[in-house]
Amino acid sequence: MAILESVGTVRPGHSPLDVTAIRHDFPILSREVNGHPLVYLDNAATSQKPRQVIEALVRYYEEQNAGVHRSAHTLAARATDLYEGTRARLAEFIGATDPREIVFTRNTTEAINLVAYTWGQQHIGKGDEIIVSQMEHHSNLVPWQLLAEARGAHLRFAPLTPTHRFDLAAFRGLLNPRVKLVAVTHMSNVLGTITPVSEISRLAHEVGAVVLIDGAQSAPHMPIDIKHLGCDFFALSAHKMLGPTGVGALWGRLELLESMPPFLGGGSMISEVQWTKSTWAPVPQKFEAGVPNIADVVAFSAALEYLGNLGMDTVREHEKGLTKYALTVLRRDHPDLIIYGPNDVEWRGGIVAFNLRGRGEGTIHSHDVGQILDDQGIAIRTGHHCCKPLHTLLGAPESARASFYVYNTPDEVDALSRGLHVVKRIFGRR
Ligand code: PMP
Repeated sequence: MAILESVGTVRPGHSPLDVTAIRHDFPILSREVNGHPLVYLDNAATSQKPRQVIEALVRYYEEQNAGVHRSAHTLAARATDLYEGTRARLAEFIGATDPREIVFTRNTTEAINLVAYTWGQQHIGKGDEIIVSQMEHHSNLVPWQLLAEARGAHLRFAPLTPTHRFDLAAFRGLLNPRVKLVAVTHMSNVLGTITPVSEISRLAHEVGAVVLIDGAQSAPHMPIDIKHLGCDFFALSAHKMLGPTGVGALWGRLELLESMPPFLGGGSMISEVQWTKSTWAPVPQKFEAGVPNIADVVAFSAALEYLGNLGMDTVREHEKGLTKYALTVLRRDHPDLIIYGPNDVEWRGGIVAFNLRGRGEGTIHSHDVGQILDDQGIAIRTGHHCCKPLHTLLGAPESARASFYVYNTPDEVDALSRGLHVVKRIFGRR
């Protein structure tokens, strides 16, 4: 990005987003924490919500609340329109042509489990292989462990390169006709690594495998075009993309969704019910048993509209600039910082996980780092970030993680850097 390269002091000249205006839309960003202005750098855990989303939620309960897909009354029709409107908007947001390919779930975790317990039980057998990468969140690992255990299948792990990228050559070496499923993250929630999904899909399809992409970290931060990615399933969470908690989605190819058995049984997902057997509603209702999370799905639409208005290309450019700035500043100010993930921001999202070397051999515990930063109003994530095996690989049981979004600024990166100086002073490193 020219604006970054050209600045002698490495400070980004400006963001392609109007960050000042954006910040006004997020009420929580004007609060103080521990006597300091809030610096929210925990967006990979969950994002903050703009007023537009909060108001959509309140408006729904004040003016529109009713059950969907059932009653004949005016409110029910309106609630159904709004609920289905989010489905159509999400389909468009990720480049899907048919809204029926969107199934609402609670979150990414449930979307992945839905595939494991339906498609997986149907298609994975003894001796089959499932490939995941070494950087998976537990959500895209544990369901496959359970499935492999239940079906007598084997898990294989696509390794990282030494620079923490997805090792495409090694992945290619793992492929064979026994591989039935490839389940890979689109963006690592620890390393920030962006994976080459279209290449992965193409190679996996050559051996007849189905491809599931964990888009929990990518969908909020970069343009998603399902057709370009070439995958078969894509999972995401609304709460990481300015939307409410309690809503996620699974996108799946229509023919796959239609051929899969139901996940949960109950109301709304049936066509005919007799005493001893039933038939299923068409997709997506087949996978949406019971009264869904209507209000949050409706409010999710406002989040998608908000992101759409910003433009996902622009969101990505803003975060690339901030990430590049953060990597440069943190390395310059803290040579004792171990930063994980690729250097090249073309292959890295706005996630910077790190450990701070302590006195002697070890590192300062990430919880201590997080606590001292919190004292200064700076919110980061600490711990294993639901990626325990990856941390083993990194040689650290846990790490501290700063992650950016549309409302973050270079000043906040500077605050993080200053905060780390305080950590080092307290730990006698300075
Ligand atoms: N995958 C990745 C890469 C994630 O970062 C997360 C959330 N930390 C998840 C899956 C799970 O998301 P959720 O908890 O919303 O299901």
